[in-house]
Amino acid sequence: MDSLSCGALAASQFNQNEEFYESSLNEDDDSNQRSKLRIRLPRHPKGKPDFSWDIARNFFKTETEDDFSNDSPSPASSRLSAMPPKRPRGRPRKLNPDGSFATNHIPLSYNIKTQQYNRRYATEHPRNLIPELCRQMYKQGWMSGTGGSMTIKHEKQIFITPSSVSKERLLPQDLFALDEHGNLLDCPVQEKKLTMSDSAIVFLTIYTMRDAGAIIHSHSPNSVLASLLEKGQEFRISHQETIKGIRKGMGGERYSYDEMLVVPIIENMPSEKDLTGRMTKAMNEYPLTNAVLVRRHGLYVWGKTWQSAKAQAECLDYLFNIAVEMRRLGLDPAQEPSGEHGITDC
Ligand code: ZN
Repeated sequence: MDSLSCGALAASQFNQNEEFYESSLNEDDDSNQRSKLRIRLPRHPKGKPDFSWDIARNFFKTETEDDFSNDSPSPASSRLSAMPPKRPRGRPRKLNPDGSFATNHIPLSYNIKTQQYNRRYATEHPRNLIPELCRQMYKQGWMSGTGGSMTIKHEKQIFITPSSVSKERLLPQDLFALDEHGNLLDCPVQEKKLTMSDSAIVFLTIYTMRDAGAIIHSHSPNSVLASLLEKGQEFRISHQETIKGIRKGMGGERYSYDEMLVVPIIENMPSEKDLTGRMTKAMNEYPLTNAVLVRRHGLYVWGKTWQSAKAQAECLDYLFNIAVEMRRLGLDPAQEPSGEHGITDC
């Protein structure tokens, strides 16, 4: 392509009635073919062409008459192949080794990606939102190995993730929908053989006891380690800035930096469905808590909205990590700071 000089372009005939120029290019080697090049150039303000090479590159059409009449590449087309290929509009195409785009190839990953967003629903509808958030939480290590689950309440419908599904590949149509009484409203197609998350009964318990709009169940390593820091039934931490991200119950009030944040811990059960009794007891004993740790399992955290649930889940995970690291350094995360720089011996 570099052999196509501005001089060749200058020899082009300017077609006054068209927006492109037709140029004849003499082939100088064995073929003696003449290939017509169609070059789209912007009109000069005075009606004359602007032969700037940079502009010509941008407007250059990559087809020649040879391309339409003969499948074998001509010298002209081989020169043209040095040009950056024109990106086809619409769906992404596979890039061929010669730099052109395949016409009918749709990568598998693209099919999955498009299905992850269902245009029938708004972007923040639970059918689109839950798969998106699950992908984020999978990357955070909260939902690896098909673990973890999530639910969002939307217009008196409760959307819940399926069980034993890789959460990073969750699709909008994979969700179950229940009414507020737990009656099934919608489920995935039978061919998929999906079952509702084992957490569903725990979710319904939390929805019944709290005015929550969303609940996240995380298998985060930090939450599991935090549940093992204390032998008792409470995780405690104070004097951390991130505590201010945690709310007291469903109201708008937040914890202050120097308050003691307490997250109840319940013992795990062989089946997640059997956690309901212990969850109910913990929520009754800690009426302001928005989270419950399940020892050697993970965390349930909820909020008035999905944004609140997500933010509190992130703050808690941060605090769990801080507490674990403080213990590793011999510091007590629940101890009120004193002494120089607020650091005391434990
Ligand atoms: Zn679980």
